[in-house]
Amino acid sequence: MAPQTEILIVEDEMAIAEGLIDLCEMNGYKVKHAADGETGLAEALTGKYSLVLLDLMLPGLDGFTVCDRIREKDKNLPIIILSAKNSDEDIINGLKYGADDYVAKPFSVPMLLARISAVLRRSRQTLEGDGKLVAGNLRVNFREYAGVRGTEPLQFTRKEVEILEYLWKNRDRAVSRAELLREVWGYENAESVDTRTVDIHITKLRKKIEDEPSHPQLLVTFRGEGYQFCTTPE
Ligand code: CA
Repeated sequence: MAPQTEILIVEDEMAIAEGLIDLCEMNGYKVKHAADGETGLAEALTGKYSLVLLDLMLPGLDGFTVCDRIREKDKNLPIIILSAKNSDEDIINGLKYGADDYVAKPFSVPMLLARISAVLRRSRQTLEGDGKLVAGNLRVNFREYAGVRGTEPLQFTRKEVEILEYLWKNRDRAVSRAELLREVWGYENAESVDTRTVDIHITKLRKKIEDEPSHPQLLVTFRGEGYQFCTTPE
């Protein structure tokens, strides 16, 4: 039998923590709970966990700091921030500190489970693939979140790597925004989600990987269809 996937929950409010523990256990995950930032950080760095659900408002170290310190040591451990704070600024900060996704409280159970399984699935695929992209003068190592375009070194966020890896695996086929939202972000009803999220990430990726970001040759837009990673020039 495969070892059980173990999730670390860092949450100080016991009622919420207990709800999350029950939910994760009912869905077949093994769970460890930490009630403050220091304990959560120390647990996260043991290397035992496949995913961290991280509250932002915590006694001791806050969630942003915990996230940042985890990322200093472990670039791959998936982190989903859970918080009542849901302003754009908090979401941007969470992602800046290296979180993989952000779920605002109160959250819907099916949505949270879908996001957990999407983050875990993407994380497994990143570990299992050959982990590399080579196209023209572009080289990307997905596992290291790094690459090179010509002689220019590139750094990527986890989300950028996930998008790029998905498009690379499906190269020379147009992938719709809805498919990206479903497969990379884990949104079940991708049609109801604002697709600008996808466009913003594609723009950031183009600035890194394209010689001329305004005239993309690799990440090409197909009007009405979506984005395609092109290995052969048009
Ligand atoms: Ca809290």
